[in-house]
Amino acid sequence: MSKTVVVTGGAGYIGSHMTKMLSEDGYRVIVFDNLGRGNRDAVLDAGFVQGDLTQPDNLDALFSAENIEAVLHFAAFAYVGESVNEPDMYYRNNVLGTLNLLDAMRRHNIPRLVFSSTCATYGVPQNLPITELTPQSPINPYGQSKLMVEQILKDYAVAYDFRSIALRYFNAAGCAPDGTLGERHDPETHLLPLVLFEAMRTQQGGNPDDTALMVFGDDFDTPDGTCVRDYIHVNDLCRAHIHALDRLVSEPSLGAEQFNLGVNRGVSVLEVIQCCEQVTGVKIPYKMAPRRAGDPPELVSDASRAMQELGWQPQYPDIKDSIQHAWNWFSNNQKLIAA
Ligand code: UDP
Repeated sequence: MSKTVVVTGGAGYIGSHMTKMLSEDGYRVIVFDNLGRGNRDAVLDAGFVQGDLTQPDNLDALFSAENIEAVLHFAAFAYVGESVNEPDMYYRNNVLGTLNLLDAMRRHNIPRLVFSSTCATYGVPQNLPITELTPQSPINPYGQSKLMVEQILKDYAVAYDFRSIALRYFNAAGCAPDGTLGERHDPETHLLPLVLFEAMRTQQGGNPDDTALMVFGDDFDTPDGTCVRDYIHVNDLCRAHIHALDRLVSEPSLGAEQFNLGVNRGVSVLEVIQCCEQVTGVKIPYKMAPRRAGDPPELVSDASRAMQELGWQPQYPDIKDSIQHAWNWFSNNQKLIAA
């Protein structure tokens, strides 16, 4: 019989790619999502329960119905800027929602969780690349909310023998290589989709002077002055979760663990734009703009711990693959993006 897992936030960008990969690997997947920001059609043909983490009754109903082996917890708000303006939303959904989830899991004897954490928990790191031992000092409520959950998971491991692996994502990028799933946020704030939207607009004859693409800051202490990030293909990110799940099941004495997930390479905003030009064949216009609040200059992972201990290797470490897969999907799904 196939193993059953719950994916919270499985209608979102990373969660939907995760759901697809788990289904293809033979898991029975139940997505739990309130559809506040996700897309129902991205769940494809996995099981679906509409519910909210802030409603413990919804979670009890979810866990009563099935024999669930583990939960992969993606459901969260994840916009840095929004978290600065509306921290109540972030602490309620990301922290209180996760507490509700953990307590429902304990009530139903499900002691395994893979948690979506973030490099935003590190704040502005003193040294690069960032290892799991780099001090965590978030500079926005989003990163703070994720760090709080990491702490809760550590305490639950000691007190309740609750096993968890927190995966600290660097910048997720790209789409399913087979073209069946893409990246859709509303509003879209992420660099890669915005650069590709601009490529598409230009390709369709849009005036370069009307570009909506802004480069937020060219005066950072980085080689070209723009921010440097570590872009990891969404499928590589998801594959690491499957390794984490295997580890949670096969090593019963595990407590709470944390791993960075990135490709150990930094790419600047201007380099992202140049790569997009190479992939799309379009000269992409942009304007320089002031720095965006809360952006650290450079975030680059040292993910060697995940590579060694989870036995994981990224299959698409070159950002060009992420861009190519995203461009294929955007080009074939323009109506979905415009909707
Ligand atoms: N960025 C930018 N213009 C945009 C969106 C993002 O210059 O329209 C920059 C942003 O300042 C950051 C990098 O691109 O340095 C990646 O931003 P994104 O929002 O994609 O991810 P984040 O690093 O905030 O998680």
